[in-house]
Amino acid sequence: MTHQTDLPLGRRVMAMIEDLARHTDEVGRLTRLYLSPSHRAAADATLAFMREAGLSAHIDALGSVVGRLEGTHPDAPALLIGSHIDTVVDAGRYDGNLGVVLGIVVVGALKAAGITPACPIEVVAFGDEENVRFPTNLSTSHALAGQFDPAWLDGMDADGTSLRDALIAFGGDPLGIAALARAPARYRGYLEVHIEQGPQLEAADLPVGIVSAINGITRARAHVIGEAGHAGTVPMTMRRDALAAVAEMIGIVERASSTRTDTVATVGVAQVQPGAINVIPARVDFTLDARSPDDAVRRALVQDIVTECEAAARRRGVSFTIEPFMESPATPMDKHLAEHLEEAVRNAGIAPMHLASGAGHDAVAMAGLCPSAMLFVRCKGGISHNPAESITVEDADVAARVLLDAVRRIVA
Ligand SMILES: [Zn+2]
Repeated sequence: MTHQTDLPLGRRVMAMIEDLARHTDEVGRLTRLYLSPSHRAAADATLAFMREAGLSAHIDALGSVVGRLEGTHPDAPALLIGSHIDTVVDAGRYDGNLGVVLGIVVVGALKAAGITPACPIEVVAFGDEENVRFPTNLSTSHALAGQFDPAWLDGMDADGTSLRDALIAFGGDPLGIAALARAPARYRGYLEVHIEQGPQLEAADLPVGIVSAINGITRARAHVIGEAGHAGTVPMTMRRDALAAVAEMIGIVERASSTRTDTVATVGVAQVQPGAINVIPARVDFTLDARSPDDAVRRALVQDIVTECEAAARRRGVSFTIEPFMESPATPMDKHLAEHLEEAVRNAGIAPMHLASGAGHDAVAMAGLCPSAMLFVRCKGGISHNPAESITVEDADVAARVLLDAVRRIVA
């Protein structure tokens, strides 16, 4: 049985998470979109947490909260720790927020123990990871890596507000973005702790795991055109049913991805035309989302899917076209930093499990600045992007101790 005095780091993490969860754009559910009033309130609360933990902190030109603890060698390359405090619509409270809070708790624990790191440590709460409000891609972390695309400022949200105007209303500074870019030589690494958002750690009965790579993604739109006809009069042998063809193609997608290790592929959208109960489907437009921690494997997977779908289309007398519209390479995690995490996991008496990340994270952008590594924390049922998202205080405590141990090694 755990007592109030047990798990001090885990309890501090959970209390801060609860505090942040109050900041929402919508009554009754957690929605905290980038540059919204609730994002500003959460950024201010994060700023206060950082200052209480003994960091010097500010909100930067893009709304990210940045705290810094100086080291005994102020010019030594710094260690970054971070994640994001924006959320999806009707979100859970741990996605992103957990990694930010853990960074603050761990640096606070270092300070409380009277430990001055050899190099500076920075904790960053990014603001635009979920990319829900604007048509951006990890804009706040890309800015630190010097990869902010100025065209993103013209991106509009659903209400017709540009990112530029929203940033100014937030109190940010569009003219200050270029100066956010960090010099790679000034940073030794980036660590991010995040809920797993999948079921693998739970299935393995492990509280934490080490991320091996963040999956690369191919996204494509496919179109299958057959011929409409009367559902009662056209014999089965004389049909060119676009939806029946797509049913076979979805089977191909499922089979091709299941027979490879660590790959996943999904048909998430399928629109049927004309879409009537008594008409043979003439046309189906569907999407493909294929992911793998290995780019060559992902490309081979997509190629196999295309070849087999083309063959199925020929057999069925329908046309098949597919256009990829997004290609994002995999991000391998830094081996050296991952070894520090693995050692810390072992020290905590936990078997080190390595797993690929199926979701994207700020670490994808940060890997463009410096070596990056991630630690995943078990979440109940693997559920995320959902108010049912949950972790235990015990697991939060393990994550804090593992991160603290790894940070101590890295900044020694
Ligand atoms: Zn996240």
